[in-house]
Amino acid sequence: MSLPPEAEVPSRSRRTPGWIGLGWVAVLSVVAWHHIPRAHANHTHTGGTQLHIATIHGNNGTSTTPGDQDEQYCVQSRTASIDGTRMANFIEETLVKLSTIWDGTASWRVDLWRASKFCFDYDSATRATIEYEYHIKDDWTEVSLCGTYYSCVVFDNAVYDGYHTHYKWGYSYLQTEHVNGYDTRARKFINHETGHILGLKDPDYYGHCLNSVMHNDLYSSMGCTDPVWYPTANDKNSVTRIADRANTW
Ligand SMILES: [Zn+2]
Ligand SMILES: [Zn+2]
Repeated sequence: MSLPPEAEVPSRSRRTPGWIGLGWVAVLSVVAWHHIPRAHANHTHTGGTQLHIATIHGNNGTSTTPGDQDEQYCVQSRTASIDGTRMANFIEETLVKLSTIWDGTASWRVDLWRASKFCFDYDSATRATIEYEYHIKDDWTEVSLCGTYYSCVVFDNAVYDGYHTHYKWGYSYLQTEHVNGYDTRARKFINHETGHILGLKDPDYYGHCLNSVMHNDLYSSMGCTDPVWYPTANDKNSVTRIADRANTW
């Protein structure tokens, strides 16, 4: 398929007015057009509003309990073809149990914790304390950015922290077909979408490729051929710059 497999944008969702998302679609297109990334580093959202979850700048909690600066996530299957527990186990393995993972990035300011229940099984007050969610469905036409073919990431609940505006909540909407193999390709999608949750961008233009789970062969339509499925040193360095608030370019 020649279509790019995914995309990301801050957007409307059931929790926020639609005009927020529509406004940022327009702004993002301008930012992307003018952005010229440095060589050998992948790029991030910069400026007064940045697309990442707000907890990325801090680390607290203990080795057994997440703090309010850690990142909790829940998983929700929304298709009969995906067993929710199996998928939650697979996502957890991909994020925190393998040898090449996002967990621990930026001196543990990325500290990922699986919530014990599925997203829909929480009351709204408790669910609001969970930083991000993975939803799996056969078709995401209800999320316009994803549509029928793409997995995508949507942010909600913008907050200003004295430095910039970022988001309290993020959602990774995964297409069933992208992850139902429970294989390396599925991990590639999970790690890529998680990279968006942490603030990384896709290639800006054809040939904008490097050793990165954000610039890999999911973007063959942009000329990228690297099959890497896990977060690389490039990726982790970029997330560290976001956590440091040093991503000014
Ligand atoms: Zn931030
Ligand atoms: Zn992407």
